[in-house]
Amino acid sequence: MLQSKGLETVEDLLNYFPFRYEDRSNLKPVKQLAPGELATVIAEVKSSKVSKIRGRHLGLFEAVFTDASGGTLLAKWFHGAYLADRLLPGTRAALFGKIEFDAYRGEVQMMHPEVELLGTPQDGADDDGDLAIHTGRIVPVYEAAGKVNTRQLRVLLYQLLQDMPEMEDHLPASITHRLRFPSRTEAIRAAHFPPPGTPLRHLNDFRSPAQFRLIFEEFFWLQCGIELKRRKGRSRNGIAFELNDAVRNQIRRLLPFKPTGAQKRVLKEIAGDMSQAYPMNRLLQGDVGSGKTIVAAEASVIALENGYQVVILAPTEILATQHYFNLKPLFDKVGYVSALLTGSNSAREKTKLKEMLRNGMIRVAIGTHALIEKDVEFDSLGLAVIDEQHRFGVMQRLELARKGVSPDVLVMTATPIPRTLAMTIYGDLDVSVIDELPPGRKAIQTRHFPSEQIDLVWSQVRREIEAGRQAYVVYPVIEESETQSQNQAIKAAQAMFEELSRDIFPDVAVGLLHGRLPTAEKEAAMEDFKQGRTRILVSTTVIEVGVDVPNATVMVIEQAERFGLSQLHQLRGRVGRGSEQSHCLLVTEKLGDSGKERIRTLVDSQDGFVIAEMDLKLRGPGELFGTKQSGMPSLRIASIIRDPDILAAAREEARAFVDHPPAQEDLVAATAYIRDHWQRRYGLVNVA
Ligand code: ADP
Ligand code: MG
Repeated sequence: MLQSKGLETVEDLLNYFPFRYEDRSNLKPVKQLAPGELATVIAEVKSSKVSKIRGRHLGLFEAVFTDASGGTLLAKWFHGAYLADRLLPGTRAALFGKIEFDAYRGEVQMMHPEVELLGTPQDGADDDGDLAIHTGRIVPVYEAAGKVNTRQLRVLLYQLLQDMPEMEDHLPASITHRLRFPSRTEAIRAAHFPPPGTPLRHLNDFRSPAQFRLIFEEFFWLQCGIELKRRKGRSRNGIAFELNDAVRNQIRRLLPFKPTGAQKRVLKEIAGDMSQAYPMNRLLQGDVGSGKTIVAAEASVIALENGYQVVILAPTEILATQHYFNLKPLFDKVGYVSALLTGSNSAREKTKLKEMLRNGMIRVAIGTHALIEKDVEFDSLGLAVIDEQHRFGVMQRLELARKGVSPDVLVMTATPIPRTLAMTIYGDLDVSVIDELPPGRKAIQTRHFPSEQIDLVWSQVRREIEAGRQAYVVYPVIEESETQSQNQAIKAAQAMFEELSRDIFPDVAVGLLHGRLPTAEKEAAMEDFKQGRTRILVSTTVIEVGVDVPNATVMVIEQAERFGLSQLHQLRGRVGRGSEQSHCLLVTEKLGDSGKERIRTLVDSQDGFVIAEMDLKLRGPGELFGTKQSGMPSLRIASIIRDPDILAAAREEARAFVDHPPAQEDLVAATAYIRDHWQRRYGLVNVA
């Protein structure tokens, strides 16, 4: 059972920390209980019953407890019927809670106390020694591991700690001293069984000195590992692109508009990397519509002018196609051949395109995964641009790195990555942020409609269409890979397409686009909408990323409650790309509490970072990025949501330590320690 939680060794157990603490130090005989105090009582059930209130069965469970002092204590739990067969007369239990005075009955009572069963005196479950572990102190509460409950874990850990010798402390002594940390042994002891007098609030906030040290330590090693990996990346041989006037002129020729300040700044950062002899490893973040594509094109020109090829990867065929149509004219302008390579090219086309990549005829290859298959070779790959990184697995990134002599890599994402995540999963990448929208954009107005008010939605759509604009109606798919969800979305989109074109907008050209259409039809549907031949585009989530039609001013999202915040934000970013006022209309069917919160966040905010932070809070990092494929490290006590401040501090310290170790041996020792203890769990491939 312990194994099922990954607890295989003593060390694993020592690192299995409580998620909560209870102060049971005020252990009192029942007779001495005073109203108003928080107390722990060890007593035996005398009688119990499930009762009704005014005939309604609310499952109110009441039990009367007594102990050797002879007093009686009434405890009540609403919806406590489940306790009935556990708190049988004769059962001993530890109760913890606030003492109240029931004036009606004239006796003391506890409402909803925490309860922990101690067994019956006969079955000898607890001798008095054990009892001292569970009461009369601040006690740790653990998440059960299979049937091993918090109590059993508490006993296990107590015994382990009794026999535990002083452990080796690997955290550099300079840091331990300066930050006045307790030793590792002390910290582990105190995190499991806090010394008397530790404020409970600090413990439950995970800010006792012991917890702070352990959290810091976990982040410190992670950050050291990331830093070492970064350094290793920098020691590889890359291409030092030359950045001269000819290159600058070509970039100027390519640009269809004046770049924003933010675009200029990030290009400078990228160009700086590209001119270095180590391979660039940079993440370009920018909210939807912030204009990342043109920056990628500028970076491409630097590589092209230096005689290298460029590959631009997109997560979906539609997006790749879209990029191709947007970028091809620009590359044509500066005299470079570009080509589109996706899964739907015929075998013959593929063979031909691959040959042209190999012999260098094609200078810019734009495409999907098909482009990073093993048999694709380049003549001289210099730069890889990966759009919407989180859709690609880490493995694919590696695959790509093997294609050339360490090409420069620019990863672009429109999912703003909260700082804490950027410091962990993407910690080995340098980060550039476009934090400014192109001029003339108006904030998108977002409103929420329950599905009963759908008529209001359609009348707003009609107004916009009559004013010459276009609208999207989207049925998002939860994940593109989930076939069931995709089937449902496609069905819903199809039905809506028919209803809209037949009944609601018989006079308007409506288009349909979904993931199952043959590529040619998808392209035609996109093109029709782009050219304004269709005014409404009903679609599944395929338009989530990248589609760019500035005349579209309305985004209707159906069943919005089913989707993650970031995804909704991405969809919304498909409008508001021109100078007209745009609208996002969120339609919901069944709205639960977390759905309500998501919708409210979206209505209130248009800041991708705020939304991403909220998404992280609501869904957790694993959900957001898929723990396994993203290489999200599994942390034992640290939490990137609860502890961003400690993470930032640990990162500073780790960088300083790797850059200026007190002595070279210290760095060698730390590297060995990370390799042996942390590398696999942190997903740090090849730290040293
Ligand atoms: P994203 O960052 O979402 O990929 P895009 O690169 O698709 O954004 O840009 C969004 C839209 O803004 C496109 O229509 C693009 O042509 C336009 N755009 C980008 N930068 C500028 C700029 N500096 N001035 C005017 N329009 C711009
Ligand atoms: Mg884009």
